[in-house]
Amino acid sequence: FNAAFFILDELHEERPQELISIGPDMSLFLAIQTLINNKIHRLPVIDPLTGDVLYIITHKRILRFLFLYINDLPKPSYMSKSLEELKIGTYENIETVSEDTSIILALKKFVERRVSALPMVDKEGRLVDIFAKFDVINLAAERTYNNLDVSLKQANEHRSDWFEGVQKCLLTDTLYCVIEKIVRAEVHRLVIVDTEDKVIGILSLSDILHYLVLRPSGM
Ligand code: AMP
Repeated sequence: FNAAFFILDELHEERPQELISIGPDMSLFLAIQTLINNKIHRLPVIDPLTGDVLYIITHKRILRFLFLYINDLPKPSYMSKSLEELKIGTYENIETVSEDTSIILALKKFVERRVSALPMVDKEGRLVDIFAKFDVINLAAERTYNNLDVSLKQANEHRSDWFEGVQKCLLTDTLYCVIEKIVRAEVHRLVIVDTEDKVIGILSLSDILHYLVLRPSGM
């Protein structure tokens, strides 16, 4: 984890990338489109005159806003349909880890698949935990590990107050119910499990916002 002490300029040289941002007068639709199409989780809103960053938009903030807004309006009929009926979420090639997976392998999966979390499963494929990119940042911040070969089980032993917990749902849950759960738990995703707790999919805020706003007949 010595890499955690690189100065930011060195990081930038490793992989120069254009900063993706929007202006304060842009629509919420454009903000969502930019977040999802670029597979990013933070979008700075920049004042075009001064170049100052005014605030940062995240999926969580947008969904919270939409949820409040939905509650003030007659509920669209799709809100009471199940995930199965609406076909929202990812159900194929779910990238998972086990408690024996090393941190370095988990990092590789984050980079290669560009996903933000990896459900942790037991030998039968049952959900036991989740390892998110957020957890890695905390490991670095706490200077807990210098050894990336450490298993996730060991790494997670130091996880305390900041752990969001693993939140799950069923294919038969309605969209309203899963949005409520995700907003209340303040998480970025739910792991979709079957009745035996086996992982069958992932429902992320990206999937929900895509469904609500970007699909051709979205709101
Ligand atoms: P996220 O990174 O959570 O915003 O998710 C981006 C997309 O990847 C969404 O369509 C998710 O359903 C999907 N996704 C998230 N995590 C995983 C995972 N571990 N394996 C496969 N797909 C995933």
